[in-house]
Amino acid sequence: MVDIRLGDIVLEYLTLVNVMKANIFFSACQHDCSDNCAILTQIESGKAVSIQGNPNHAFTRGTLCGKVSNYLERVYSEDRILYPMIRVGKKGSSSFNRVTWDEALNLIRDKFAEAIEKDGSESILPYSYLGHQGLLNGLHCGDRFFNKIGAAIGERTFCNSTASKAFGMVAGPTGGLDPESFKHSKLIVIWGMNLLSTSVHHGRIVLDAVRNGAKLVVVDPIRTAIAKKADIHLRPRPGTDVVLALSIANFIIQNGLTDRDYVDSNTIGFSNFSERAKSFETSIASEITGVSTSDIERVASLISEERIVAIRTGVALERNANGGDAIRSIAALPALIGAWRYTGGGIFQHPQGTFPINREKLACPEFVETGRRAVNLFNLAEALDQSTNTPVSCLFVYNANPIITSADQTKLIANLCKDNLFTTVSEVFYTDTCDFADLILPATSQLEQDDLMYSWGHFNLQMNQKAIEPLGEAVSNTELFRRLSRKFNLDDAILHKTDAELIANSLNWEHLNMQGVSLEKLHAQGHVRLNVGDPDQRKPHVNGIFPTPSGKFEFVSSLSKLGGQMLPVFRQCVTDDAVYDEVDPLPSYTPIETPPGAFTLLSPKHHKLLNSGYANSKAMKTSKSIQKLLINSSDAKKLGIEQGQRLRVFNSVGEVTAVAHVTSDIIRGVVAIYHGFWRSHIGGSTVNALVISSPSKIGKGITVNDTKVWIDPIGLSN
Ligand code: SF4
Repeated sequence: MVDIRLGDIVLEYLTLVNVMKANIFFSACQHDCSDNCAILTQIESGKAVSIQGNPNHAFTRGTLCGKVSNYLERVYSEDRILYPMIRVGKKGSSSFNRVTWDEALNLIRDKFAEAIEKDGSESILPYSYLGHQGLLNGLHCGDRFFNKIGAAIGERTFCNSTASKAFGMVAGPTGGLDPESFKHSKLIVIWGMNLLSTSVHHGRIVLDAVRNGAKLVVVDPIRTAIAKKADIHLRPRPGTDVVLALSIANFIIQNGLTDRDYVDSNTIGFSNFSERAKSFETSIASEITGVSTSDIERVASLISEERIVAIRTGVALERNANGGDAIRSIAALPALIGAWRYTGGGIFQHPQGTFPINREKLACPEFVETGRRAVNLFNLAEALDQSTNTPVSCLFVYNANPIITSADQTKLIANLCKDNLFTTVSEVFYTDTCDFADLILPATSQLEQDDLMYSWGHFNLQMNQKAIEPLGEAVSNTELFRRLSRKFNLDDAILHKTDAELIANSLNWEHLNMQGVSLEKLHAQGHVRLNVGDPDQRKPHVNGIFPTPSGKFEFVSSLSKLGGQMLPVFRQCVTDDAVYDEVDPLPSYTPIETPPGAFTLLSPKHHKLLNSGYANSKAMKTSKSIQKLLINSSDAKKLGIEQGQRLRVFNSVGEVTAVAHVTSDIIRGVVAIYHGFWRSHIGGSTVNALVISSPSKIGKGITVNDTKVWIDPIGLSN
């Protein structure tokens, strides 16, 4: 019998030898994707000549997704921004002239000084999100600089804010089930996520499990690629997942299928939860969700029979007023049936607490005085309204393309066009947002910078080694903010730390999960798995021990008074005066009304796009980007809409033009337009022109899937 451990060691050694011989660098995908792939980049004469997925990485397994497999096309694209540029024409006219870095930085310094003098430092607003996931160049790279100069705080609740807070309320900040352990599951439930587009590597593990006999249930109003592989596909109306989950729970409880030993030893609040679930017996739930009673019962029976049940929820699930309640009620299912007893049983959510990231050391919230203005960045259009008390005079955009990813596109464009707003955009490519910049700064690609990468889809830490010199005058985000700090004469040592020093700062290397992880190993192997147990044996909550206040799974959350705010990472680590309303300690359902004649609009991720990334890839540009609207065949018939017909899709905030894609892949009453296309490529407004969002009650997340629209046919497409 082969000694697996020895085999692994030999493989690692051979990899290292090959790496040294072939001038191969370890890279890690920086995109907002939970797979966080390990990449081998081959260099010849200072140029990257090939990339491939690292075959020795247990999750990447040698392949990259279709988007990133052509990453070198992106790195060496003619469309790269290579020099600082200043606007010379009208805003939106795309007229820029090259300037030096010194001129660019002087301009920022002068404009910021002017804004501070006139309207105070809180009139400066940084805008960034997950255009980069690195610990150095990602979420926190600009926080310490902006926190120091007194700028407004950017509240970043676009994604997973609701889900992670809601999950934290019941289970605590646990990584939960290891995505690699899904290979041992007997039943896999993918809830609100098109795994084969948004986490293809986890998708492969799931499909391997299915080939080995696991059953697959998918919950999604759209018949996605993963839903087509499912044994059972449940299609609830958007916003009703909490009802579906509570009904499944009620069926399990009422039929005596609960694992009472597990519940009694490892949970609190079971009887109150049972009472709440009782309101959603299957006939009532069927009426609300649109899922048949027999399907609800079939899935509930399957969950209790199989026991080794793995659940993964997607970010789509949280994006409505009931999203956090859905997450809480779904998270209750593995606790009810004792799925945590088994390897491959439980639920995977964002593993927030698993990587011991020193977020505060990276963001420096100590620079912020109490009461500093905070702005929810998804609602940038509103924040830029000059009618508000404190105007935004200077906007600084990096790692983001707000024209495509924020709410209320039409209003946002109008506000970005105002002459009394000075906008800086640091970017790799000329995006739609660059159109409205006063100053554009060139940013590096992932191959041109060092970084350390964590993942929200597996438990490996990864080194991204700088493989090539920056193209043109592009600089990494860390270098950008070091230059700005020098220009502003800021002398705090943290603002001038080198990348190597930042890497050392970015994690708590003494943490138990980091045992066996070192910088030496990361440089030698590219990635190291955290000390969180073997995925082939791991049972993280077999004995309960959830990181909640009670130490147990909390069917009734003891954090409800805090609005579930136990994971304060989305406001540049500034939390002292964030106010959150108390929420119901049990999951609850609030009906979301749809006016007569209106449809619920979903804006899912496109298979070939990464948020707003890759809309400018050769493949997308040459295939003539068309904005399609998915509409159910019977809805289309009722409105007299034919396949391929041009449509006006509108509501009170905006309108877009789309081409009808009539299909049974979407349920009645719901339509979908894929998110991420650029206006410049489709020649008009994109789906965000229809979207406004009020903050969700848990985590102040976005509620874009509550958007309602009306549709008018306007002629046949050519
Ligand atoms: S986008 Fe996701 S799947 Fe594609 S290479 Fe990056 S991490 Fe891997």
